[in-house]
Amino acid sequence: MRAVAGTQRDLGWRHPDRAVEASRALLAWYDRERRDLPWRAKPGRSADPYRVWLSEVMLQQTTVKAVIPYYAAFVWRWPTVEALAAASLDEVLAAWAGLGYYSRARNLHACARAVVESHAGSFPRSEQVLLSLPGVGPYTAAAIAAIAHGVRATPVDGNVERVVARLFALPLPLPGAKPELKRLAETLTPAKRAGDHAQAMMDLGATICTPKRPSCRVCPVAAFCTAHAQGIAARLPVREAKRERPLRLALAYVALREDGCVLLRRRPENGLLGGMLEVPSTEWAQALPQSEDRLRSAPVRADWQLAPGIVSHAFTHFQLDALVYRAVVPGRVSLTACADAPRCRWLPRGELDRAALPSVMRKLIAHALRAL
Ligand code: SF4
Repeated sequence: MRAVAGTQRDLGWRHPDRAVEASRALLAWYDRERRDLPWRAKPGRSADPYRVWLSEVMLQQTTVKAVIPYYAAFVWRWPTVEALAAASLDEVLAAWAGLGYYSRARNLHACARAVVESHAGSFPRSEQVLLSLPGVGPYTAAAIAAIAHGVRATPVDGNVERVVARLFALPLPLPGAKPELKRLAETLTPAKRAGDHAQAMMDLGATICTPKRPSCRVCPVAAFCTAHAQGIAARLPVREAKRERPLRLALAYVALREDGCVLLRRRPENGLLGGMLEVPSTEWAQALPQSEDRLRSAPVRADWQLAPGIVSHAFTHFQLDALVYRAVVPGRVSLTACADAPRCRWLPRGELDRAALPSVMRKLIAHALRAL
């Protein structure tokens, strides 16, 4: 844990007017400088709860730049929550492919159905009720309540935590400091324009109060910022030292049929990448099988060749390093020897782009096919 010496909390913040003035300055800046994002209502217009919810789910652990094309594709294809609820899970997973964290896509679909079936197609106003929907956590519930319904609620994500930690010069390390940061963030939220305030905090964190070099000279709330006054802004928030990501190893088998189809397997519904398609592989474990056993898990009998190099992919809690075997197999190849045959299917290469394939699987296939 890195310590920040000499910080002093709540410098001047005990006076309630200070929070009111800080929020006023922030809103005035937001009115001038707000980011023009496709899911945002134009000034003075009401936000569409469906679009707010969709964008907030997509933005979890993903950048605005990465989300924009996915958001556009979703609202073009499914312009209402009813339309999304009527889609199949496979369609939603395929449209989501590449955004990562696929449980979000499954929850997105389940949530759309719950809103249609249990709330007559309207997103609830209450944070508590919103929290009962699939995939809606405290941040998303507060964001929908504030931005879509104007309820006094305070969504707190990593950007907001950083801004608040600096405004109050909070010396406690994350993640333990989260409840305190949430409490302090709530003290800043005004009774009116809570949605604009929330979006202003998000914009401030994304554009000015950035992680490494905050632009305090142009910050609309610099006059209220304790960390800035103490010259320690870039050192906050304090974080506990990160643990190293454990490494898992696997052998992946990319079989290409002579007619151009690739063999894929459906993952179990629960767990990591649940319900998505994958390249057949061994267990993702701490060690690889012994050399003589390396083709034992291959899905078909074939002349398997090891592709040179390793495919590495970073998941949130571990890193996967995979060796890739590849083989070209005849058109009438049988899967009868494959224990997973019911979960396997051949997919034409031309359809891979539209399939519900996670990024790591696309990497494995690209690696195998590169030299074929
Ligand atoms: Fe962040 Fe600097 Fe503004 Fe404080 S003054 S909120 S540290 S950008």
